[in-house]
Amino acid sequence: MIDVRNLEKSFGDHKVLDGINEHIYPGEKVVVIGPSGSGKSTFLRCLNLLEEPTAGTITVDGVDITDPKTDIDKIRQRMGMVFQQFNLFPHLTIKENIKLAPVTLKLMSDSEADQKAMELLERVGLPDKADAYPKQLSGGQQQRIAIARALAMNPEVMLFDEPTSALDPEMVGEVLQLMKELADDGMTMVVVTHEMGFAREVGTRVLFMDGGNIAEQNNPKDFFENPQNPRLQEFLSKVL
Ligand code: ADP
Ligand code: MG
Repeated sequence: MIDVRNLEKSFGDHKVLDGINEHIYPGEKVVVIGPSGSGKSTFLRCLNLLEEPTAGTITVDGVDITDPKTDIDKIRQRMGMVFQQFNLFPHLTIKENIKLAPVTLKLMSDSEADQKAMELLERVGLPDKADAYPKQLSGGQQQRIAIARALAMNPEVMLFDEPTSALDPEMVGEVLQLMKELADDGMTMVVVTHEMGFAREVGTRVLFMDGGNIAEQNNPKDFFENPQNPRLQEFLSKVL
């Protein structure tokens, strides 16, 4: 589904991604871990061109998204993204937040988007919050809405960048549970997280990023029980 070849990204002289090669297959749940500054967010942001790669190609369903002729908005519509900061629009109600993209992009009529929003609110367990404003919701609830908003575009892939890192501890579980349900429904997911339990339980593959490269990857069991790279061994000894 996503084919990354020799992906490089530099900010000025600073090479942040140093020739990444990776394939993500439909239905995979790829979990990305690694130290702060190793390039995890930049990698994720390159996948939907929130960052423009310096070199290399990214192909999504056979379309080279790094080709300037590609309509990147069309590609982005197929990839939902959820950030650490939920980024809901504070002046819009929850339902309006969810409807905004599909209606603005004319992918759905207002009534279709309305129905879709209510379905999604049911799915994330917050149907009674449709007319509330973001600030009236807890952090965990806001992040569940951010996930619903991303799902409103019917994405083929969901990208998560530390979706629980900004949450109070008691709210982490409800967001991880929702992500697990999405995974169980077959969604293709790429998840940057420090939640090792999630990586183990939900991940089909775990990648360790270090210094702008994927230094090691494996199925969760072998990744956690039998790490080979000394930097990964050191990292796991600190976080587990
Ligand atoms: P991670 O998500 O693993 O913590 P990032 O991808 O956010 O790492 O960052 C990797 C490196 O790239 C860091 O050194 C960071 O300072 C740098 N970086 C990220 N975004 C920018 C930017 N927009 N401009 C300059 N440097 C950046
Ligand atoms: Mg990051």
